[in-house]
Amino acid sequence: MPSWEQLRNEMVEGQLRGRGISDERVLQAMNQVPRHEFIPNTNRGSAYADEPQPIYSQQTISQPYMVALMAASLELNETDMVLEVGGGSGYAAAVMALLARHVYAIEREPALVNLARSNLARAQLTERVTVITGDGTLGYQHCSPFSAISVAAAAPTIPPILLDQLYDKGGRMVMPVGHAHGQDLQLIRKCDGEIKQWSVTACRFVPLRAGWTSPN
Ligand code: SAH
Repeated sequence: MPSWEQLRNEMVEGQLRGRGISDERVLQAMNQVPRHEFIPNTNRGSAYADEPQPIYSQQTISQPYMVALMAASLELNETDMVLEVGGGSGYAAAVMALLARHVYAIEREPALVNLARSNLARAQLTERVTVITGDGTLGYQHCSPFSAISVAAAAPTIPPILLDQLYDKGGRMVMPVGHAHGQDLQLIRKCDGEIKQWSVTACRFVPLRAGWTSPN
């Protein structure tokens, strides 16, 4: 049986470097975060497989390649304040936390907020990631602007509030844009009020749900 470390290393070399992810900091972060610890016991054996993994009700952790591609596209550095919409298990937030200054991960499902918090505590990353219960389509005004925003669920259009909360001097955002079966990962850059947008790749994410309000 190969060790988790061996499986993780094979994932980084084969699925990431082998497919064009060349940012050494991203590769290192992907090699450092124990993905198997963010995945339910029942399918932990597939933690390093080249596919998304179920976490809870119909939600999934993205495929490793997608997590790495999103982090690399954001060109994160140690000064970045990051907002992640759709914290899920906390895995992508953990990867980004190793590349940035702080990650605010917002998640609408209270059960997943608890899961992400305990996973991040086990990974000793609670000081670098704050998990918030809420509707990520509203962003997180309290700590905005963010120099990077990563959206882990798809919508037909980019919520304008998220663009408003993006730093105006070179803020970057990645988000899957489209419908249930066909989406495009878009990279956005905001500078002096101007928004530039590129297509990164075709993708398939769970839907971003809107209109949810906190029970508190
Ligand atoms: N990044 C996560 C995976 C996210 S899956 C990880 O690494 O594990 C997408 C997540 O988006 C789901 O957990 C879903 O509950 C959440 N979500 C969907 N709509 C949302 C919204 N409006 N606000 C916050 N979270 C939302």
